[in-house]
Amino acid sequence: MATSPTIDEVRSSIAGRHITATALAEEFYTRIKQEDPEIGAFLTLSHQRAMAKAAEVDRMASAGDPLPPLAGVPVAIKDVMVTRGVRSTAGSKVIENFIPPYDCTAVARMEAVGAIMLGKLNCDEFAMGSSTENSAFHPVRNPRDKSRVPGGSSGGSAAAVAAGMAVATLGSDTGGSIRQPASFCGVVGLKPTYGRVSRYGLIAFASSLDHIGPFAKTVKEVALVLRTIAGRDPMDSTSADVPVPDYVAELDKPAKGLRVGVAKEYFGAGLDEEVKAAVEAAIDKLRGLGCEIVPVTLPHTEYAIPTYYIVATAEASSNLARYDGVRYGFRARGVRTLSELYRLSRDGGFGMEVKRRIMLGTYVLSAGYYDAYYLKAQRVRTLLTRDFDEAFRKVDVIAAPTSPTPAFKLGERVNDPLAMYLADIYTVTANLAGIPGISIPCGENHEKLPIGLQLFARHFDEATMLRVAHACEQATSPGS
Ligand code: GLN
Repeated sequence: MATSPTIDEVRSSIAGRHITATALAEEFYTRIKQEDPEIGAFLTLSHQRAMAKAAEVDRMASAGDPLPPLAGVPVAIKDVMVTRGVRSTAGSKVIENFIPPYDCTAVARMEAVGAIMLGKLNCDEFAMGSSTENSAFHPVRNPRDKSRVPGGSSGGSAAAVAAGMAVATLGSDTGGSIRQPASFCGVVGLKPTYGRVSRYGLIAFASSLDHIGPFAKTVKEVALVLRTIAGRDPMDSTSADVPVPDYVAELDKPAKGLRVGVAKEYFGAGLDEEVKAAVEAAIDKLRGLGCEIVPVTLPHTEYAIPTYYIVATAEASSNLARYDGVRYGFRARGVRTLSELYRLSRDGGFGMEVKRRIMLGTYVLSAGYYDAYYLKAQRVRTLLTRDFDEAFRKVDVIAAPTSPTPAFKLGERVNDPLAMYLADIYTVTANLAGIPGISIPCGENHEKLPIGLQLFARHFDEATMLRVAHACEQATSPGS
């Protein structure tokens, strides 16, 4: 695996005039040219935009002006976030040639503090998937083992960081799509509290479950990026007006005395033995750091997958109704009637998985089945949220595996959607409850495949979650 500098290293070498932002961005483009043909993380490079931004940072550095927090940091963005003048596809043929007229707030906030956007990252079509094999363009390969998937749907975002093709990236997480690929690729990925980060400019999959969040190699870098993108945005009425703490400043507060919950529901059947052992070893490290390990119970966990796949598909069927071949996007040719235009445009533009979800979602929302499926799922969602509320009366964070297995082989699960869905068991709960979650590397299996430890915290308490993650990272890093 290629190594790349951390955010702090980039800032200090630019501030110390050891390198220019322009030269650094060019180095990253060279690396992308070398590495990416085998990995497939990028869909579009935004060279011109990157160079304009880098020149701006270089002017500041040479004038001796104070540098903003992400000055010159090469970043890349999952292609579900729109970027002005730069093609944004959501991994779909439907909007293959879409050049958005505005920027996603999270991207704009990163660039406003000096980040250099290198390009747009591959993902499952409309973020539907767990392996990035549902991209309409090409799959992504895991830099740690190229015969394996990088996870999904933000596979490009995780792989780009793991392969040193970007220092930090943004992804989106509707049911685990940041945390699971982070765990498969051996990097850190964070899903914030619902409302913590504006969704303005995020191409919608399931609006009540969608979140934007950062990937990087270390907890500290993820904390830095989160601080940049978090906070109220008048363009997203669901973004919360809750003060954003200085996550980085709080990282080094000792974890001693914090209570870490462990729920037996996350360690049952289906959990790979080596994953279990690595996660338990990480929890032991936390005990060693003075955390109190407390058993908790999340009794409705077994209903999380069906609940998620009802709510997510219902919302997706509604959100995706806009791709009708009329206003923008793919339009079938040679059609004779309006209904044929809708039918053939949607048939030709969407991939298999997206169609499956539109059909499922339309079904659960249909008049005769709404109460039995959609309404029931909303009720179970409340029960799942209450499980967490109960548990967080007793503990400050909850520790769990991120995924029941390490990265699987490309092609292994594509024809078995149910097996693919079931693997989301440990991640979808946080989206249904809206609580924050993070995945950090905590070990490897006998094939040297990375294993992720997941931590959850109370709504808007990313600070405590990051603190525990940082302590655990320090304790499990090689040589400690
Ligand atoms: N794997 C889950 C799904 O396919 C989660 C996707 C996501 O978080 N975007 O829906």
